[in-house]
Amino acid sequence: MRLPMTVPRSDLPGRVTIYEVGPRDGLQNEQTVVPAAVKSEFIERLAAAGLTWIETTSFVHPTWVPQLADAAEVLASLGESGRAHTRPVLVPNERGLDRALESGVRSVAIFGSATETFAQRNLGRSVEESLDMFAPVVRRAKEAGLWVRAYVSMCFGDPWEGEVPISQVVDVSRRLMDLGADALSIGDTIGVGTAGHVAALLEGLGDAGIAREVIGVHFHDTYGQALANTLEALRHGVTVVDASTGGLGGCPYAKSATGNLATEDLVWALHGLGVETGVDLESLVETSTWMAARLGRPSPSRVVRALSGTD
Ligand code: MG
Repeated sequence: MRLPMTVPRSDLPGRVTIYEVGPRDGLQNEQTVVPAAVKSEFIERLAAAGLTWIETTSFVHPTWVPQLADAAEVLASLGESGRAHTRPVLVPNERGLDRALESGVRSVAIFGSATETFAQRNLGRSVEESLDMFAPVVRRAKEAGLWVRAYVSMCFGDPWEGEVPISQVVDVSRRLMDLGADALSIGDTIGVGTAGHVAALLEGLGDAGIAREVIGVHFHDTYGQALANTLEALRHGVTVVDASTGGLGGCPYAKSATGNLATEDLVWALHGLGVETGVDLESLVETSTWMAARLGRPSPSRVVRALSGTD
């Protein structure tokens, strides 16, 4: 069986936009550093498999993320396709934005935190200070005509702080939108969230005036909840879902091999539900198998394992 039988449900959107994070979020969290040429081939293969939105790389300082130190090189080798508005890059600060602008990109993403501890550990500053840091990044990006996405991490739990109040996530999200971001990505960075929590957070964001259309969800499969949480978000009107081909990117904060929701697992579920994605599952699985060989470890995706016969 190479495809699920399609049985649609009326409470889901007809089409979902998959926001592919494998080349950035995935590879940034893998032990192996892959050459720039492999990265650009990976991105081209993902596009050929039908993925529209692909976050390509990060202009974080190479000291912090050596895996993506070759961001400019990867973008140069992608040429015009790497500068499409559907190829965002992560920028941590104004210096990162400068480098992104030099590369000619047309979309950027910033990476905020819902919690103080993660803001300190990941950004070296408080939530308040990080918003101050992002303000000129978003302003200058918008002035340059770029599309800006704001990630909010640790939205469902924090490894140091434990439970994260919904009001705290809503507040940071609202403030990032007020800075001028075009879209949000609500991240369950350690994968602890469950479906009811997803529904409650989406309601809170709605009450704060944040339209469903601008919300993407970013789930991790650490506790096996990523797909269940995604379907819950779709039932509440979300139509943008982050996923990483092959489930690339372990979870550095939970010491687990299972990190991002695998794009293949998502596509299998959505196609079974009659939700269009534009993605060719077969070629995506081939790409994951190819990348797994380069990383020297099998894909944690159940669908990749089932369809490639490695299980
Ligand atoms: Mg992630």
